Amino acid sequence: MAKYKTVNPATGETVREFTTLDDAGVESALSRAHNGYLDWRTTAAEERARILGRTADLYAEREDELARMIALEMGKPVREAKGEVKLSSAIYRYYADNGPALLEAERLDVPGADESVVYRRPIGALVGVMPWNYPYYQVARFAAPNLMLGNTVLLKHAPNCPQSALLMEEIFRQAGLPEDAYINVFATNEQIADMIADPRVQGVSLTGSERAGTSVAETAGRNLKKVVLELGGSDVFVVLDTDDMDATVKTATRARLSNAGQACNSPKRFIVTEPNYDEFVSKLAESFKATPTGDPLDAKTVLGPLSSQSAADSLIEQIEDAVAKGATLLAGGKKIDGPGSYVEPTLLVDVTPEMRAYSEELFGPVGVVYKVATADEAVELANSSSYGLSGSVWSTDLDGAREVADRLDVGMAFVNEHGTTLPGLPFGGVKRSGVGRELGPWGMDEFVNKKLVRVS
Ligand code: NDP
Repeated sequence: MAKYKTVNPATGETVREFTTLDDAGVESALSRAHNGYLDWRTTAAEERARILGRTADLYAEREDELARMIALEMGKPVREAKGEVKLSSAIYRYYADNGPALLEAERLDVPGADESVVYRRPIGALVGVMPWNYPYYQVARFAAPNLMLGNTVLLKHAPNCPQSALLMEEIFRQAGLPEDAYINVFATNEQIADMIADPRVQGVSLTGSERAGTSVAETAGRNLKKVVLELGGSDVFVVLDTDDMDATVKTATRARLSNAGQACNSPKRFIVTEPNYDEFVSKLAESFKATPTGDPLDAKTVLGPLSSQSAADSLIEQIEDAVAKGATLLAGGKKIDGPGSYVEPTLLVDVTPEMRAYSEELFGPVGVVYKVATADEAVELANSSSYGLSGSVWSTDLDGAREVADRLDVGMAFVNEHGTTLPGLPFGGVKRSGVGRELGPWGMDEFVNKKLVRVS
C-alpha cells in the first residue's frame, strides 16, 4: 500500500498514489544535498535572495492552483488556503529583502580583541519533516531562511500532501534554485532516521506531534545533530474583561475554527473570569452552532473537513472520553454523517484533570471553556499545561493585560488579539511545545555557524 497519497478528505476518494524512495534513492538524495551545499554556499547572498524573491512572485502568480491543491489534499477551504499561500509568499519575500543584511559580518568591540569578526555561515544539508496542516507555510518557515543562509534542504512532507510537496519543489526549480539545493523525498520514517544519522546531514527541523518530535530528536541527539522542533500547543484565550463581548466571541470563533481547528497555536482553552463567563459561553456556543461545514473547494466554505478519517476518529475519542467522565457538551460533539471527515464545531465545559481533553492537544474544531475567579487563577490554570506555545489575554486594562501576558509560560503572548503571524516576528514555544524559533532574524539563527575570525 502506498504511503504517500492524495485522499480527498471531503469525499474519502483516493486521487493519486506515489512510490516511496528505495535505498539507492536515499543515497542519491543525500549525496545530491551534500554536493549541492558545496556549490550553494558559494553562491552570492544577493543571488540567493534574488531566487527567493522570484519564489515569492511565483507563489503569488500561482496562488489559485496552490490553494486548490491543499484544499484537495488536506481539506483547507480555498479562501483560507489563499491566505496561506499569501503568507508563504510573504515569508520568501521577507528573507529575499532582509537576508543579505541579516548575513552581514558583525565586528566585535571587545577590549583586547583587535580585529574580531563574527560571520554567519551555513552548516550544510538539513532534513525538514513537515506536517499537513499548513503544507506551504510550514515549509516556507524552514526553507526560506535556510536557503538564504546557504544551507540545502531534504524535505519530507506529510504522506497526505504529496502533490503539494511536489508543487513546492517545482516552484523552486522555476525560480532558478539549483536542483540539489531543495530535494523533496518521499521517505519512510526509518529512511529519515538514516538521513539524520548520516554525516552529510547537519541538522533537522520538525513541525508536528510530540511523538514525532521525540523520535526525531532522539535520533538527532544520538548523532549530535542540531534540532528545531515546533510541536503542539494547548493555547489559552484568557478573557479578563471586555467592552465588546460580540467582537471577542467573533474572534474566539474564528481563531478556534480556522483550518478546522488544526493549528498548533489555535486557542484550545478559553479561560474566562466569573462576571463574563455566562455571556461568553452562551454566545460562543451559539456561534459554533451557527458555523456550517462545506466542501473546501467551494469558495464560500468557512469550515471544511478534518485532514483525514483517522484525525476525525481520534478527536471524537477525546470528546467521548470527556463526556463519559462528566464534561458537558454545549455544542456539537459528533462526526457529521456522510462521506468526508467532518466533525461538528464542539464546545465543552466542566472539563476536569482526569479527562484527556484537559491535558491533551485537541487538534480539531473543539473548544473547552473554564471559569476562574481572578487573573491569578487564570495564569495558574494556563501554566498548568505541559505545552507552552502561545496565549492571548483580553482586557480593556492594557497594563493589567500586559502583566498577565508576561506571566504566561509561552513563547508568544498577545493582548487583545490571538495568533498573529508575520514573517518578521518570532514563532515558537517552550516546554513540550518545542525548541528553537522560526521566522524573522531568529529563524536564520538556528542552523548557522556563527564563526569567529580573529586577526592579531
Ligand atoms: P505527525 O507528527 O505524526 O506528523 C507530522 C510529520 O512528522 C509528518 O511528516 C510525519 O510523517 C512525520 N513523522 C512522524 N513521526 C516521524 C518519525 N518517527 N520520523 C520521521 N518523521 C515522522 O502528526 P499526525 O499527522 O499524526 O497528527 C497527530 C497529532 O500531531 C495532531 O493531532 C496534532 O496534535 C499534532 N500535530 C501538530 C502540528 C503542529 O502544527 N504543531 C501539525 C500536525 C500535527 P509520517 O506521517 O510519515 O510519520
